[in-house]
Amino acid sequence: MSETSLYVLNEKKDIKSYTLDELKDELKSMQLPAFRAKQMYEWLHVKLVPGFDEMTNLPLALRKQCEETFHFMGLEPVTVQESAIDGTKKYLFRLYDGNYVESVWMKYHHGNSVCISSQVGCKMGCRFCASTLDGWERNLTPSEMLEQIYAISRETGERVSNVVVMGTGEPLDNYENLLRFIKLLTDENGLHISQRNITVSTCGLVPMIKKLADEKLQITLALSLHAPTDEKRRELMPIAKKYSLQEVMEACRYYFEQTGRRISFEYALVSGVNDNDEEAKQLIGLIRGMNCHVNLIPVNPIKERDYVSTQHEQVQRFKKLLENSGINVTIRREMGRDIDGACGQLRRKVQSGE
Ligand code: SAH
Repeated sequence: MSETSLYVLNEKKDIKSYTLDELKDELKSMQLPAFRAKQMYEWLHVKLVPGFDEMTNLPLALRKQCEETFHFMGLEPVTVQESAIDGTKKYLFRLYDGNYVESVWMKYHHGNSVCISSQVGCKMGCRFCASTLDGWERNLTPSEMLEQIYAISRETGERVSNVVVMGTGEPLDNYENLLRFIKLLTDENGLHISQRNITVSTCGLVPMIKKLADEKLQITLALSLHAPTDEKRRELMPIAKKYSLQEVMEACRYYFEQTGRRISFEYALVSGVNDNDEEAKQLIGLIRGMNCHVNLIPVNPIKERDYVSTQHEQVQRFKKLLENSGINVTIRREMGRDIDGACGQLRRKVQSGE
């Protein structure tokens, strides 16, 4: 089976998941010249048209043939919520099969950033996360990951400079599609986003981190740490029962060795759970000497759990303790808190008809 035959839906080929070379091969088998592939690729991945109809330099008959042969994989925007606080926009999209995904648009001084989902639902079961409450439904295709960015670009009319794979899903649990997505997103014939402007966040699937390291990409790896000891981490994240912190840290060191990219550790601060001074010291002990960065995120409470966010003063204190040990720390701006900013909250609301 060829690689691209994986991307066939209802007997139609998922054209946006094809690389330019694969598209050339595809059109060749339809007795079409290579330059048509180049034109189509540009319509799909640069001009970001919403359908074959808009590909005006293609003959009408070819557009019709494309409709019959290829799946366009457009996402239908269902709702857009804009934060009154910081202009963050949260999009809910309907997929071709009736499932929903969420994506977020954030404006920073260094450019526009889109946070995308990589799966419908999630298997990982992290206690504080809304995305996993209903379990896992399916993986997103490369085209569905791209289309979240393309649809938002179309809607805002602005260029996207950074992409973070931090929405619903565990990206390293959808590894092949993730890598193809990165390949297409960074392709010079497409949006050509720099690898350095892409961040992939994982709960810590050790073998997959090592595999990703061996690809030697220049993307940033964000590791969801959330606790400085195995005992505490197991309480918050079921995956910690499978891989110890020692194994996770070793995989992170390996990632740095292979890629030269410093790791970004995510640490959601939960009041009375992982946020006291002792835990800050344990965290320092765990990561001291590593080329890394820590992102502190006051936890975004979800109604299904009684976790409460750490108070402002303790967040600052925790940060200071780390900084005093020479660790790079930022406090994640709590973007879009007024618009169900936490992963998976919006999708759940719509699906449960609330
Ligand atoms: N599965 C991946 C990526 C998706 S989650 C991962 O675990 O990294 C993206 C980030 O948001 C993770 O760091 C996750 O732990 C965090 N997160 C999830 N729910 C949250 C919440 N309610 N408050 C704060 N951070 C949350």
